[in-house]
Parts: sequence; structure tokens; C-alpha cells
Amino acid sequence: MLDRMESMNFDVVIDEFEAMTTDAKRVQEETLKKILEENAEAEYLQNLGLKGKTDLESFKTHVPLVTHKELEPYIQRIADGDSSPILTGKPITTISLSSGTTQGRPKYVPFNDELVESTMQIYRTSFAFRNREYRIGSGKALQFIYSSRQFKTKGGLAAGTATTNVFRSAQFKSTMRAMQSLCCSPDEVIFGPDFHQSLYCHLLCGLISCNEVQFVSSTFAHSIVHAFRTFESVWQELCSDIRHGDLNSQVTVPSIRAAMSKLLKPDPELAALIYSKCSRLDNWYGVIRELFPNAKYIYGIMTGSMEPYVKKLRHYAGDLPLLSADYGSSEGWIGANVNPKLPPELASFAVLPNIGYFEFIPLREMTEISRQDKESSTLLCVDPKPVGLTEVKAGEEYEIIVTNFAGLYRYRLGDVVKVIGFHNSTPELQFICRRNLLLTVNIDKNTEKDLQLAVEAAAKLLVKETLEVVDFTSHVDFSTDPGHYVIFWEMNGQASEEILRECCNCLDRSFIDAGYVGARKVGAIGALELRVVRRGTFQKILDYYLGLGAAVSQFKTPRCIGPNNSMVLQILCGEVANSYFSTAF
Ligand code: AMP
Repeated sequence: MLDRMESMNFDVVIDEFEAMTTDAKRVQEETLKKILEENAEAEYLQNLGLKGKTDLESFKTHVPLVTHKELEPYIQRIADGDSSPILTGKPITTISLSSGTTQGRPKYVPFNDELVESTMQIYRTSFAFRNREYRIGSGKALQFIYSSRQFKTKGGLAAGTATTNVFRSAQFKSTMRAMQSLCCSPDEVIFGPDFHQSLYCHLLCGLISCNEVQFVSSTFAHSIVHAFRTFESVWQELCSDIRHGDLNSQVTVPSIRAAMSKLLKPDPELAALIYSKCSRLDNWYGVIRELFPNAKYIYGIMTGSMEPYVKKLRHYAGDLPLLSADYGSSEGWIGANVNPKLPPELASFAVLPNIGYFEFIPLREMTEISRQDKESSTLLCVDPKPVGLTEVKAGEEYEIIVTNFAGLYRYRLGDVVKVIGFHNSTPELQFICRRNLLLTVNIDKNTEKDLQLAVEAAAKLLVKETLEVVDFTSHVDFSTDPGHYVIFWEMNGQASEEILRECCNCLDRSFIDAGYVGARKVGAIGALELRVVRRGTFQKILDYYLGLGAAVSQFKTPRCIGPNNSMVLQILCGEVANSYFSTAF
């Protein structure tokens, strides 16, 4: 394996991808067959009466669509140490923790070698396409990657976030080496126990290797923005460390100090150069381009809940291109970005037909059904009719269903995607939103995307005062009658009362869903409330999730805080500096 990786030929990777996507239907059937053959003994499939059948019809007849909730008892038994074939033929030995930022607590999902291999396949594929457009030389990558706390489950299985499980795998290093993308930071920094210290040292390692850095990346773009926001306040300390060859005393983890001492030598010239570059910058515009003159691009997931960070990232990037990364989840990867030249706002993902079996619930049909069935409180209740990977239609939106090699069968991931076209015969998907992130009081339905658009519109009003929204989230407050939307905002400075009132009205008017507008007009939904929270509130939320075992690498700010997420709501409510009610209706 290692030898194959070291001598990877990226033209071959592209050829393989083209061949596979040309024959996507057949590859999907074979993949399903392989999954069902390998796991024929699994108790879950046996109980469903599949009896070793591997054809699509039997699969669809016997295996129901499920969410994590239905699989939880099975996964729990695995985590508790039951090594009989429960969900998979071969026992699962590792558990991934999904980021859990949408539900308020991390979910356990099975992880195995097949998931590592498909992750590498996705990495190789998108890298091959990326490298065709933006060829990188031999050098290093400044990667803001972090491990989560790893622990053993009750049954002794290793548990950590999926990214941590991947970073720890032997294939990760060899793939990164083959892609000339080895991280400039030593493992002690990546796997360090304290996120703040690791971040500081990532920055320091990047600066020490500044001329070698070929690109700057993170799993989710949020981590890069966070890193350079931090850089704004610690850059002088970093310069001082480089000048004296002496690591800041606030880095206290012995293993990190030991590893950094091997890299850090007094270099007054470099320190002076960085100092003068930083001093010349105007509001940190183009800091990444300035500091890393040989970098070719910035890379990370910039779509979905990461879109709100793209503007700030562009600011830090200057004229360096932003390349949006692939689409996947702890439950498995789905598609690769094979059009790297498109801006993040237009990024799409070509589904790899051999890494899982994919089905799609057409949402137009679902909406029709739910309109007829007014009683159904959630769209997830109705009986959906999924179609296969090659049966989807361009222009339509779908909820995606995954069957993978790690024991998930017809699993509703909870994501809404739009088919924007095809790469050969495999669809190219755009990420739309998380399905269950709906702001709803009664007949109104607003998604994460609607919220994002509303915040974008209102944030434009802050430009006059050269302010920006650092982060945001929302909540439906039912403690008032009628209930109303609450938007929490953290800004990078103090805005005037007048502007904030305007922002609040603008937010309210920007939710254009007919149900919302109608209900607002007749007073069936109360006035939208904008709550401005103090600086550092979202850092507190991040720290809270890290305490739960999440990793910064996988962190996504929850955009809607539901009633089950009372801790985060408590943090937010405790930090409110001012609040405003809309007078827009
Ligand atoms: P996790 O639970 O941490 O594994 O996160 C997986 C979720 O992150 C997916 O189900 C998506 O909602 C989101 N996600 C992953 N990749 C992308 C992407 N490229 N664009 C938008 N959202 C993504």
C-alpha cells in the first residue's frame, strides 16, 4: 500500500475516476452487492430477512430507511464490547464521534478500514484534479488540523472524531506524502491535548517554514479563519519566539515543547521580515498571501455552514484562490470537488460510485405529500420514495441516503443536496442545508440557508461602521406567546443602537418564506429579536464542544439551537449585551 501511494500517478487517478463515473450505475450495483455480501452474516440484515440476498429489489424491500436513532441500540452494543456480527460481518473496532453540533451531543458511528480507504480515495481524486489546475511543488502544507480527545468506550473500543481516526491512520501520512502535502507541524502539535496551544504552534510552524508552504488548509474553513483571527492578536509573540528561538511560556504541554524545540532556532532576520510584513498590512488584508509567498491556494470545506466564513477568508487570502474541499461526513464520504476552479459559492461534488450505495429522496415530491398531509409535524414522517444515484434529475433537490461498508444501511444523513448536473453519469451535488435545521414556529419553515441569507443581508448594514459579524446562531423562543425567532450575533466591535435596530428589522424582513411573512403579518409569530452577545461568546461555545470530545477540525457552529441544547443556550443567554425587537411588521 505504502509503495503504491509513494509513487502515485495522478493521471491514473483521474483516468480511474473517469472510467468509474462513466459506468456509475453498474459500479453502484456492484458496490451494493459487495457491501451486502461482506455483511451477510450481520444480525441487523439477518433480522430484516435479507437471507444473504444482494440484489437491489430485495434490499429495498427488506431494509427500511433509518436515522441514527434506530441504529443507536446496535451501535451502543458494539461500543459496549459485543463483538458478534451486529451491523457488519467483521467486528467494528473503532467508533467515530460525529461533531454533534446540530443535535447538541456527539453521535457514535461505526468506523473501519474501508472508511479510511474511501477517505484516501476522495483525497487523491480531488487532489489530482486540483493539481492539474494549481500544481504544487515539493514543500509543506500549513494545515490547521487537530485531534479530538481519544478515549475507550465501555467495551474498550477506541473512540474519537472521524477526522482524528483518519489523521491517526498510517494511510493518512503516506497519502499526504504522495500529495506533497505533509503538514509543517509535528504530530505532537496535531495530537496535542490543548487546542489553543496546538493552534499557536501550527502558526509558529507555518511561519518557520513560510517559504516552503505550498497551501494552507483545514478540514472546515472555520478553522483557518479562527487561526488568522488568533494570529491578529498573537503575531508579535510569534515574532518574538522566532527572534529568540524560544517558545512562548504559555505553551506548557511537555511533548509539544520538546517537539517545537527541535524546529525553533533563533532567526532574527525572519522575525524582522514577518514583523515588517505584518506592520504594513491594512486591516490584515492578504495576510496569508504575504506570509506564505509560495502558497498556491487555500483549501478546506467552504460550503454549507462554512459559507459565512468565506468573506473573511477572502480578506485574509488576498489574491490567493480559495478552493473548496470535498463532501462527506463521519458516516462516510460522498463526493469530490473535481472542478477546483469554481469559487466556493458554486462548488459541487461528483459522487464516487464505489464508496457506498447512495439513494436520494426527491424533496419536491415530499413537499407535495406534506402539503396534503397537514398533520405530519415533520417532513421526515412521510413515506418517501428514494431514487438511485443515476436516476436523479438536474435542478432537483434531494435528501441523501447512505449505505456504507461500515454497517449503515439506508441511513438518512439529514443533508439536503441539489443536483446541478452530471460528471459522466454520476451526479454533481451542491450542498444545500441540514434537513432538520428548521426555524419554525407554526406554518413557517426556514432552513440554515435562509438564516444565512438573512444574516448576510443584515450584516451589510454594518459595513458603514466597518464592523462585521464574527459568528451567529438562532433559536425559536416559545416562552413568549406567540413564539418568535431569536438571532444571536457576535460582532467585532460596538455598533450604534440605530444600526442595530435597522439590522434587526432587516433580519425580520429577509425571511421571505410565505408562511413566515403571512404569520408575522397577522401576529401569529412574534417580532424577531436580535440579541447581541459579547466578544468571545462563540469561542466559549467552541470550548464547550471541545470539552464534550469534539475536535476543532470538525467543528461547525450550530446555526439553530434547539430545546435539547440547553447548555449552549445558557452560554448564549448569559452573554447577551443588548437585545432588539423588530418593528418591521
Ligand atoms: P460530521 O457530523 O462532523 O461528520 O459532519 C458531517 C456533516 O458536515 C455533513 O453531513 C454535512 O452536513 C456537513 N458537510 C460535510 N462536508 C460538507 C461540504 N463539503 N459542504 C457542506 N457541508 C458539508
